[in-house]
Amino acid sequence: MGLVARTLARVKPSPTMAITNKAREMKAAGFDVIGLGAGEPDFDTPDNIKQAAVEAIKRGETKYTAVDGIPELKLAIAEKFQRENGLAYKPTEITVGSGGKQVLYNALLATLDPGDEVIIPSPYWVSYPDIVLLAGAEPIIVEAKLEDGFKLKPEVLDAAITARAKWFIFNSPSNPTGAAYTREEIKALTDVLLKHEHVWVLSDDIYEHLVYDGFAFTTPASVEPKLKERTLTLNGVSKAYSMTGWRIGYAGGPAPLIKAIATLQSQSTSNPCSISQWAALEALKGPQAFLKDWVKSFQERRDLVVSMLNQATGIECPTPEGAFYVYPSCAGCIGKTTREGVKIDSDEKFATTLLQEEGVAVVHGAAFGLSPFFRISYATGSDALEEACRRIQHFCGNLS
Ligand code: PLP
Repeated sequence: MGLVARTLARVKPSPTMAITNKAREMKAAGFDVIGLGAGEPDFDTPDNIKQAAVEAIKRGETKYTAVDGIPELKLAIAEKFQRENGLAYKPTEITVGSGGKQVLYNALLATLDPGDEVIIPSPYWVSYPDIVLLAGAEPIIVEAKLEDGFKLKPEVLDAAITARAKWFIFNSPSNPTGAAYTREEIKALTDVLLKHEHVWVLSDDIYEHLVYDGFAFTTPASVEPKLKERTLTLNGVSKAYSMTGWRIGYAGGPAPLIKAIATLQSQSTSNPCSISQWAALEALKGPQAFLKDWVKSFQERRDLVVSMLNQATGIECPTPEGAFYVYPSCAGCIGKTTREGVKIDSDEKFATTLLQEEGVAVVHGAAFGLSPFFRISYATGSDALEEACRRIQHFCGNLS
């Protein structure tokens, strides 16, 4: 009998780990490495939010709370959903967890049985398929192609839905592509979902506020109110408020699902950190003006990176609508050889060799289920980004 459970054995160790470890080793050995792998904003958490946490500590908000969130925070989340998304959720329809990832994990573990299927567009955030596997269910990967702006076509979704399909996971703006769906594009998908009453929708809106060129964000339950009764609308404070370390995520959905999530959470982590909940309350209720500056800064960086990458031989980089990632194709580099004699036969080889020869750490597309691409996070200073793009241009220009 092996030590590791059969379900855990189905989960791959994080494919992004190898490159992150290698970058760390190289840095420690004194190499000049620019890391473009991080999935978090480089800004500091705003002071008013930190202050709210300090005050919560001083007031003694340091004990267990209700398992799925303090009433004050649930109310602020309900107001947020109403104000920003036009969605009416009661406090019994809201759950708070230790990060969006825990809410997602709980929702899937609480609802999936062996043999159930979960439809996931690729390229995907790496956690989706692995959590589905942990739940003993089957990820069904459907491709969102470069030529379609990395957005899933309704007919592709329709063809993937079987009687065993339990969830459709939707993520806009997307990690890793930054693609964000317009209202019309979402409507085309919700029209398909309306026909399949057994399929639930998990909409991961964590990058909601990071959209550019005046893009109008919207979410499936707003676009198609008839779907709200089988939709979980997932969000959190990590990305919008630069609070990745505070671990607060939340969701709105039908009360029975919210209750099942709480049952599971009550037997694992119990409540999310009390202090972080008070900080998240301030994030949602406090001034939002700083977001404009952040978005402006992200948009400038996106434009810089897209323009410089498109000047690199063999690279094609679409302009994403949101998040802080670009997902360029390196198809034009595959099959070529570097000056040092390394043959680039996959996007993984592209990423490892780029790190080795130029000291730039990116994540290869195979990790996100679509090759040959790579992901760059531009949540880093413009000088470092410019230098990294120069090195990528140099690397690609020297391939033959
Ligand atoms: N969803 C997506 C698409 C993400 O990229 C992330 C974080 O990288 C999360 C959810 C979860 O974030 P957190 O657990 O910090 O709320």
